[in-house]
Amino acid sequence: MAKIINVISDKNVPKWGNKKKYIAIHYLGVVGQNNKVEAGGYGAHYYIYWDGTIYQAAKHDAILWQVGTAGYYTQKHPEARNSNTIGIELCPKCDGNASNPSDPYWYFTTETQEACVQLVKKLMQDLGIPASHVLRHYDIVNKHCPAPYVNNNKYKTSWTWEEFKARISGSSGGSSTDGTGQMYRIRKSWADAGSQIGAYENLDNAKAACKAGYTVYDKDGKAVYSKAETWKATGTATCGGNGVYVRSGPGKSHDPLGQLNKGQRFEVDGNDSGEWVHVKVAGIGIGYMHKDYVVYDQPTASASSWKAIGTATCTGQGVNVRSGPGTSYKSLGQLGKGNRFEVDGQEKNGFIHIKVHLNGKDRIAWISSQYVKRD
Ligand SMILES: [Zn+2]
Repeated sequence: MAKIINVISDKNVPKWGNKKKYIAIHYLGVVGQNNKVEAGGYGAHYYIYWDGTIYQAAKHDAILWQVGTAGYYTQKHPEARNSNTIGIELCPKCDGNASNPSDPYWYFTTETQEACVQLVKKLMQDLGIPASHVLRHYDIVNKHCPAPYVNNNKYKTSWTWEEFKARISGSSGGSSTDGTGQMYRIRKSWADAGSQIGAYENLDNAKAACKAGYTVYDKDGKAVYSKAETWKATGTATCGGNGVYVRSGPGKSHDPLGQLNKGQRFEVDGNDSGEWVHVKVAGIGIGYMHKDYVVYDQPTASASSWKAIGTATCTGQGVNVRSGPGTSYKSLGQLGKGNRFEVDGQEKNGFIHIKVHLNGKDRIAWISSQYVKRD
């Protein structure tokens, strides 16, 4: 293993709490050698020089501005972000026009590339990052970086990106522990490396970062701490498409737990993550669905946005108040003859949209129109 020279500085680190799920490979973009995280937090955790010397410039917990869109690039990767990615800058050379970021004559020395393979393999092992989570900057946003592995023309460069990936995917060197000590990894299950949300040297830090439904594992995969998944539904919804996946985590890289078809019902609890909605589905369990396929029962159902146009009285005994306009929707409680409520003029499938005080709180709900007498 090439030596890693410690030039770590916290000075220009803009943010802390890196989740360490991905590794991004960059090239410096200029002919030269540099090992500093510049003011503003631009830079990477590691820099590799032409002779293969590795410098670590920032702690793994540092979040650096290295793979974001900067309001300019287009996001390509569904999950890799500054907040969960460790960056490695390779110092390149160029025989062409170095002011052109995509010039075909950019290249890496053999020493730089070999050190990069060693460093990536070490980080994969230390941080529990799978080879599928080792990416080019170019795989995350549409930036031509690192040029030699985007051009893939092998100009004075030993490997294409695919060949680099093959080298880090090999199972060689699996037993090396080289003094890095214990790492605690937070995953849904030990086998599901893709579900990892963090890796920590300190068990207390790992416990603090552990989310409901996740377990902290020691370096041998033994569970040392778990946080049970508690579910508190805040609403119900319907699936808006066919063959829609429910996944173990918020992103396409997470394993499917099952599939839903149009019209199938499930619960939501509001603990969404980006474009992914946290759902509980009977027979499948708790997971995430993409928001494009989630049709909420009450899209504007919050008591604060309610706009009453009148009041009404319930004319029946034991009349169900439901979460949606139909008898298939969950009953939130029952009203008796003479109970009062507000209406906002919405009516669907013979059900009227109401705001009613029920079991101690205001609920936005639906009630069959045959039991409603407007004032
Ligand atoms: Zn880059």
